[in-house]
Amino acid sequence: MSLHTAHHSLPSPEQLREQLATAGLRATQQRVAILAALRTLPGHPTAEQVFRQVRPANPTVSLGTVYKALDSFVAAGLLRRVADADGTRRRYDPDCTNHHHLVCQNTQEIIDYCDPQLDRLLQEFFAARGFENFQPHSYSLHITGVRSEA
Ligand SMILES: [Zn+2]
Repeated sequence: MSLHTAHHSLPSPEQLREQLATAGLRATQQRVAILAALRTLPGHPTAEQVFRQVRPANPTVSLGTVYKALDSFVAAGLLRRVADADGTRRRYDPDCTNHHHLVCQNTQEIIDYCDPQLDRLLQEFFAARGFENFQPHSYSLHITGVRSEA
């Protein structure tokens, strides 16, 4: 088992504009700022956290703009939507590679969980079991629990 927190080196504004263009999105200043915030904030932020990060340097940005931009990022495949422990707040995951989530019910912290052995197990299980009228592409577990102090 390996827990990992993403340590992305922060992309330059040019790289962010390029990511938006590659995803087929117009690289407006607000979208660049919102994408930059997503790459800066740790873990799996809420739209409100992104808004608070972006707002000081972009005073015309509204929470609605942030939601709209996040939705367009999700649609373009730049971002994944993740549910928190009680499923009430939408959280966003800038890491679109396949991984699982451990969700702490006390703190609502979402911890990335990568385990190739688990991925293989899930693939083999569902390949053997099969679904009726459904073709699976990927598997992502959402494991809720309580994080204990190390
Ligand atoms: Zn994640």
